[in-house]
Amino acid sequence: MTISNTVPKHGSDISRDYIPQTQKWHIEDIFASLSEWEETCKTLKNRLDDLSAFKGKLHETEKLFNCLALRDELSQSIEKIYAYTRLQRDTDNADQNFQELVGIAENITAEYYNATSFIEPEILAQKELSFIWLEKTNPKFCQYKHYLEDLMRKAPHVLPTREEEILSKSRLSTSAAENIFRILTGADISFAPATDSEGASHAVSEGSYLLNMTSRDRKLRENTFKSLMGTYRQYRNTLSASLAGNCRSANFYATIHNYQDTLSASLAEDNIPVSLYDNLINAIHANLEPLHDYITLKKEKLSLSEFHAFDLYVSLAKENTDIFSYTYPEACTIVQTALAPLGDSYCEKLSEGFSSGWIDVYENKGKRSGAYSWGIYGVHPFVLLNYQPRYNSISTIAHEMGHAMHSYLSSKNQTYINSDYSIFCAEVASTTNEILLLEHMLKNANKEQKIYLINQFLEAVRTTVYRQVQFAEFEKCIHEEISSGKTLVAKNLEDLWLDLNKKYYGKSLALDQELSAEWSRIPHFYTPFYVYKYATGYSAATTFADLILQNRLDAKEKYLQFLSSGGSDYSLALLQKAGVDLNTPLPIEYTLRKFKEKLTELKTLLD
Ligand SMILES: [Zn+2]
Repeated sequence: MTISNTVPKHGSDISRDYIPQTQKWHIEDIFASLSEWEETCKTLKNRLDDLSAFKGKLHETEKLFNCLALRDELSQSIEKIYAYTRLQRDTDNADQNFQELVGIAENITAEYYNATSFIEPEILAQKELSFIWLEKTNPKFCQYKHYLEDLMRKAPHVLPTREEEILSKSRLSTSAAENIFRILTGADISFAPATDSEGASHAVSEGSYLLNMTSRDRKLRENTFKSLMGTYRQYRNTLSASLAGNCRSANFYATIHNYQDTLSASLAEDNIPVSLYDNLINAIHANLEPLHDYITLKKEKLSLSEFHAFDLYVSLAKENTDIFSYTYPEACTIVQTALAPLGDSYCEKLSEGFSSGWIDVYENKGKRSGAYSWGIYGVHPFVLLNYQPRYNSISTIAHEMGHAMHSYLSSKNQTYINSDYSIFCAEVASTTNEILLLEHMLKNANKEQKIYLINQFLEAVRTTVYRQVQFAEFEKCIHEEISSGKTLVAKNLEDLWLDLNKKYYGKSLALDQELSAEWSRIPHFYTPFYVYKYATGYSAATTFADLILQNRLDAKEKYLQFLSSGGSDYSLALLQKAGVDLNTPLPIEYTLRKFKEKLTELKTLLD
């Protein structure tokens, strides 16, 4: 690996010009210059017209194949056009040129969707379409097998064209509930500042909420919690009406499309059986005791006479940001070593990613915050970081490079149509890497570092598995109420929320009235039955990481095969082939057992 060991000048007030080229991603790997980008946009616009020649002709096998092939080619081109502008804007939000280019790319993307919108309804209209027959006529259809089968699976849930058009237009009105939620919570509501134990005032916002919740200053936590939740509670009637409205419209679209209810319709998107959802909730119910024990331990070790919801996020590790202070090149070496169990070919490519323009490392003026990975078919993945010398940043490298390697391997091994992995599988590769890193760090850690790392793991399971399943259960209850024709009023939602908190966190949690408003601030509830995927993804990753570390027969090879398979089959089938069967509760139970073991280890370390 050839990464310079000097740390360049960087930060929110430093111009991007100061960051050396070697620490920025190579945007020119997408297009060598702006004029090449412009040329591609022009060619693409002309080629969109070619699609219209296929309209009304998709019952002819040869035309169907050529149309799908052209759509793939244009879609690849659009991805590059759009990514080229978005990636540059993300590194300098103040640059007007980039803003303008993003606008142009968005318009071309809209034209593309418009030009291709006839394809799927025309295929779906051919109710007798048989893939076997298609493949006999043209063996090249093989690459479209999964795509066409998946599309035809949805055929019984697609209404005649005119009816679909009416439904599509109706969404403008039925999305009002979600819009009201977003505008009320994002623009109209503001929160009173919170005072800390020394009388200093702190601004309260959704953006700073979690930071205040991890503060050692209990007064600040309590006042922040009461300000934020108390404010939401003032709008309890409006917010329950908007959530109920959203549930009702989801139920309307589900049932009108011949699904039993919203749950079946949402899970059908990923071809997930309802039994998986129920298994997940049942597996958690059977394993709540370790979570109760964890809360009791927190209460005891934080020396609290009462444990409240605003104490949940406080770490049991000592407040010491220096215990994992590494420069970026050091962090890359650590990640490389931690991921060595994935084998030489994985690590060689990872190393190439570190040194050949995949990553934009440091913060600069105007750069967007956070981190992400963006895979571009036929180019390479691009990873945005804002590296800081602390453990979370090292973990972020492992996480984002997990996504990046998943994209890289899927692109390399799959045709374009099969390269994109589903949201259901998306967090598996990233979290597997996070866990491999954590296990590697634990091996060489002193006592203080061990406490820190185990605390990280327990909090990840608490917030990604337990808390998300608590959300999933809440959603199941409220959607059941709606489909049985009942009304959702604030009082019922509040009671349900408090009951669930009592059930999940146990006797040690003192229930504040303000906590009853928490459901009303969760944006994910406006995308029904989405959050359970966090819990399944995390459980699959924990299982994969341990299978790989235990050197189980073919575990590594099967996992790499999973990373190489993109979206070539249904998510559950891909995971199952790789050795993790989410149709059974085993991966969830395994993860909760690991939670219990690490909790025992933490208890010993803290004694
Ligand atoms: Zn991620």
